[in-house]
Amino acid sequence: MKKDQNIGSPNEITKSIPFLRMLVVYLVVCGAGVAILLMSFDSLMRSHDKKLTGNICSLVTEKMNNSIRYMTISAENMAEVLSAQGTDDLGELYENLARSDDGSGYESIGFIDEEGNVYASPAELAEFDKWGLSDIAKLADPVSISAPYRSGNTGHSVFTIFTNYTYAGGKKGYLFLTYPLKEIEEMAFTESATKDTEIWLMEAASDNVIQCAGPDSTSIGGWNNALLSIRKPINAEFQDDYIEWKNKMNQNVVTANVSYEIGKETYTQVFSKIDFMHGWFVVVKIPSSSLSSALQTFRSRVLIFLGVLFVATVFIFIISHKRETAEKRVLENLSIHDPLTSVMNRRAFDFTAKQYLGKNLKSKGEASLLFIDIDFFKQVNDRFGHEAGDRILTEFSAALRELFGEGSYISRYGGDEFVVLVRNADKDNINRQLELLQKHAEKIKPCDDPQEYGDFVLTFSCGAAVFPEDAGDLKGLEAGADSALYTVKKNGRNGFEWCAGNSAD
Ligand code: GH3
Ligand code: MG
Repeated sequence: MKKDQNIGSPNEITKSIPFLRMLVVYLVVCGAGVAILLMSFDSLMRSHDKKLTGNICSLVTEKMNNSIRYMTISAENMAEVLSAQGTDDLGELYENLARSDDGSGYESIGFIDEEGNVYASPAELAEFDKWGLSDIAKLADPVSISAPYRSGNTGHSVFTIFTNYTYAGGKKGYLFLTYPLKEIEEMAFTESATKDTEIWLMEAASDNVIQCAGPDSTSIGGWNNALLSIRKPINAEFQDDYIEWKNKMNQNVVTANVSYEIGKETYTQVFSKIDFMHGWFVVVKIPSSSLSSALQTFRSRVLIFLGVLFVATVFIFIISHKRETAEKRVLENLSIHDPLTSVMNRRAFDFTAKQYLGKNLKSKGEASLLFIDIDFFKQVNDRFGHEAGDRILTEFSAALRELFGEGSYISRYGGDEFVVLVRNADKDNINRQLELLQKHAEKIKPCDDPQEYGDFVLTFSCGAAVFPEDAGDLKGLEAGADSALYTVKKNGRNGFEWCAGNSAD
């Protein structure tokens, strides 16, 4: 008899990484990738926002510095010209100048004489006491500038420039010019990048701010406290950053930035020192939504693209997994079953039968092995053709399945030879089933046309062995059944024989 073969289980052959584990790994890798991408994007946007806000702030500051420098030069020139004209009476000079408007942009002009008497309008005289302007005048060397203050005369925000002035052949006094802050406010406003940009002048010591530009145009020129000007509270986790930023003003740092959130909006705020106005800074505050809107749109589009890509790859992943599983199932099926008859092939049968017999070694009389071979099958092929032979094999297998059904393992061992492991050893019962098989076989014809097949009758021979009576393993059972089959063939075929001469028919 043919040698038995040791085969592995089909599952062992096709074992692969579980699909779900791969999917989870894929999801984790994608998630991490997207998180890194978002973090990089956010850091890119933050540095972009800081840079842009810083640029706007330094531009505004530079313009303010230039503008104030121009005003101080004008004041110095005027003082020089007036000194050259020579006058003893500052009151008279003041009256003449106050009446004329030379169009240089200042709101008012005045003098302080050597004794400290101020020549100015009554409203402006009040401002001198209120804002301590005489003390600022004494700092002029050759110029000094007051902090912005609200003019009692016009109600405008103004600041005053003082310059040294010589009169009456060598007496030392001061000439002062008061300018509306509007001049530099307007200039700042023209620099604001978007309507959401806020520009303030801020005094570090007092936290006072003067609004120069902002989304609310009615507040332009308004005075406020820096924190009040922010209106809605800064999110708690950013408050320390904000205070640290503000402290840098008092430490005389030239420029610094801070980012903070109010609700869900991120703001970038930068200060820059004003050269001629001690303690005062230009502050620019811009929300991220208006600064990096293009980047944010790009970010959302990248996210949408990644989302679509992700869904598509998961979809392809699932589809290809399903296809692979289906192919694997077909391959597994092919590796287990005989493609023509669909009963088990020899490898699969040997494996299954060994498993079964191994499990049942201790119990007696639990299985029978039948070797069945079709008689004169070669002649079927020769007489009716190979296809007709296939038909006989297929229908004979179907008959085997019908008769031995669930409780048996059926296999085509090769050619026209079949093996059946019946899971009981009731010989009478098996004999009856073989008789029925004989009756079935008689009905199996190589073709449909009776004229063609004529007197053809299909018969088979069978040899059988009982487990564990005749043999304790598959090899022994096969040898016993094979020799019984040989006996049947030798004795003229169309019969069945039990091993060791236990005749069944
Ligand atoms: P015996 O009674 O002694 O068994 O005589 P036999 O003619 O049946 O002899 P044997 O069993 O040795 O012949 C088997 C033949 O089966 C040989 C081969 O031509 C044929 N055969 C093997 N596989 C197939 C198949 O898949 N299809 C068909 N049609 N014929 C096959
Ligand atoms: Mg045969």
